[in-house]
Amino acid sequence: MNQQQAKLLELIGENLQTVKQKMREASARRSVQAEQPKLLAVTKYAKPEWIEALYKLGQRDFGENRPQQLSSRFEQYTQNQNWSDANWHLIGQLQRNKVKSVLGKISCIHSIDSFRLLQRIEHLAAELKTPVRLLLQVNISGEESKQGFRAEELLLEPSRVCSSEYLSICGLMTMAPRSEDIELIRGTFRGLRELRDQLQQCVSEETVLNELSMGMSGDYEIAIEQGATIVRIGSRLFRNCPTDSA
Ligand SMILES: *Cc1c(COP(=O)(O)O)cnc(C)c1O
Repeated sequence: MNQQQAKLLELIGENLQTVKQKMREASARRSVQAEQPKLLAVTKYAKPEWIEALYKLGQRDFGENRPQQLSSRFEQYTQNQNWSDANWHLIGQLQRNKVKSVLGKISCIHSIDSFRLLQRIEHLAAELKTPVRLLLQVNISGEESKQGFRAEELLLEPSRVCSSEYLSICGLMTMAPRSEDIELIRGTFRGLRELRDQLQQCVSEETVLNELSMGMSGDYEIAIEQGATIVRIGSRLFRNCPTDSA
């Protein structure tokens, strides 16, 4: 390891420790006792050496927002560098014609945004006999620009929210509005948790909606206070990382 690599490892190690510490503190503030939320490192803008540093530091869950980039990371790391314990999560939009290219590589899809996509995945997973875990993305804040189901859509047809032999629907995901208004952000996260609780009452027994994927670099502490089980963090982990060095 050269000096530059050692420095990078130290820097990312500090960032990681800070985030984990804040995650623990936020967990301790929640009123309901729940297990420690999981940190998903979002690597969509990360340089390879940053990802390798995270892995060296013990990080195993990585999130990508583009199916193609997820596939190439999977090939580069899981296959070529034998990172068999790394988990790749898809957190960005998935087109129906791309489903086949990512099945078998992903440990979880966070961004299911329509029943049509859900059906397509169920069909292919059964055909290829490949189990898949997924979360339904919900547009809680109701912003026009946001992906995801409307809460009403899910509550009107809960029978369509149903795990099956190869398909596990494990919970919900949302993104808070980009805003300085902390109450608005908190309300969005609380909204997702309440929707989960409500939906859990009307879905079949084998569908267990344990996961709440919510919170990013700017708002993960608020999300954890509201019950996040997975936070998706990118930029905060790479703060001060040099973007020019090789
Ligand atoms: C980029 C991204 C994140 C992480 O964002 P940061 O602000 O860099 O932490 C989380 N979730 C989704 C869906 C993203 O696209």
